[in-house]
Amino acid sequence: MKTTQSISRRKFLMFSGAATALIATDLIGLGRQVFAADAAIPTLTSVTPAATFTLPALPYAQDALTPYISANTISFHYGKHHAGYVTNLNNLVKGTKYAKGTLEKIIKLTYNQFLLSSIYNNAAQTWNHTFYWNSLKPNSGDKSLVPGKLSALINAQFGHFSDATKDDKGAWTNPGLKQKLFDAAKGHFGSGWAWLVLNKQNQLEIMTTKNADSPLTKAGYVPLLVIDVWEHAYYLDYQNGRVGYLNAVLDNIINWQFAEDNLPATLKV
Ligand code: MN
Repeated sequence: MKTTQSISRRKFLMFSGAATALIATDLIGLGRQVFAADAAIPTLTSVTPAATFTLPALPYAQDALTPYISANTISFHYGKHHAGYVTNLNNLVKGTKYAKGTLEKIIKLTYNQFLLSSIYNNAAQTWNHTFYWNSLKPNSGDKSLVPGKLSALINAQFGHFSDATKDDKGAWTNPGLKQKLFDAAKGHFGSGWAWLVLNKQNQLEIMTTKNADSPLTKAGYVPLLVIDVWEHAYYLDYQNGRVGYLNAVLDNIINWQFAEDNLPATLKV
């Protein structure tokens, strides 16, 4: 499966299950190291290496995204919300056939099945959040979009990457991919996620999903990048100001290189 391969390539190993217990132990060790001085994140030590699914380490220190996303937000979002989904999932799958599956498999198998919705929601939220942490990077934003397959796809499909010029009514005059992703994330009603994906026609798509939903449940879709638009992602820093959060993320910490890396190696552009 493409997603799994690309994830493995980037040492994104915590998506799989018990078979990665040794790696899980390593990453938990890393997590402890990163957060050694921070007593506010007790959940890291409560997820034991024996758990079926483990909370992956953040790819950066919890204060690395300041001032755009504070260490306080990360401590709750990662240390409480993300960790909570992992703990819930482990409790829910204990003794079931899902205890041995990969997250991707569980998400696909339990999608849209009412009696399995708790497993689905916690598995999908576990996956989505790991993907989100990797969709962010300190000192990134516009600055890291370098010529490559992604920029070629963007130029072919969207004309250009970014034009933030507005008319006298405040509307974009010639929006590029960045403005369209911004608008999609801003316009999503309620909790959910704004994604850049590659569809099965090898075209870029901007989409939003509700609650825990992800493109993994759509055949042939490859997630490239995601922005969490649940209020818990920005409430401590921006209160209800999703626009301020989105501007801060898209201008300064969105990881376009991650999106580029998620394109299938075989993709011809
Ligand atoms: Mn979240």
